[in-house]
Amino acid sequence: MSEAPVTDWSRGLELKAGDWFIGLYQPSPETTGYWQGVARHELLLKNCPACDRHFHPKRIVCTECGSDALEWKRASGRGEVYSFSEVHRAPSAAFAGATPYVVGLVKLEEGVHLFTRFVDAPVGIGTKVAVDFRPLELGNLMPVFRPEGA
Ligand SMILES: [Zn+2]
Repeated sequence: MSEAPVTDWSRGLELKAGDWFIGLYQPSPETTGYWQGVARHELLLKNCPACDRHFHPKRIVCTECGSDALEWKRASGRGEVYSFSEVHRAPSAAFAGATPYVVGLVKLEEGVHLFTRFVDAPVGIGTKVAVDFRPLELGNLMPVFRPEGA
């Protein structure tokens, strides 16, 4: 009887699904416009012109009318903290120098929830936040949220 291999989590672990690293920057065809906006320091959401409803950047069909003619529309960049968690154990070696850091969900004024990094000051549920753009650990420019006034 052999023992199960022991994973050394102290140095982090690259989590993969096929060729994709889990949880890291992953451009895909439906989000190309989103990342082009990020490069210009603009936060974009999908919008259905017929319903004037906003959707997550990955959404490809309007849940109200079924239209697939969604367009990119600039978001206000403001919202509030919906949930958060402080990360103390780096998910990979690249993040080892960044801990502790705070990730979570921001609820934008448009009603869309985005997973993000909270920066610059402590946050709590309901903290009013605004978007900013920062190069994070892997070198990619990413939208992050900081408390308003921080
Ligand atoms: Zn619609």
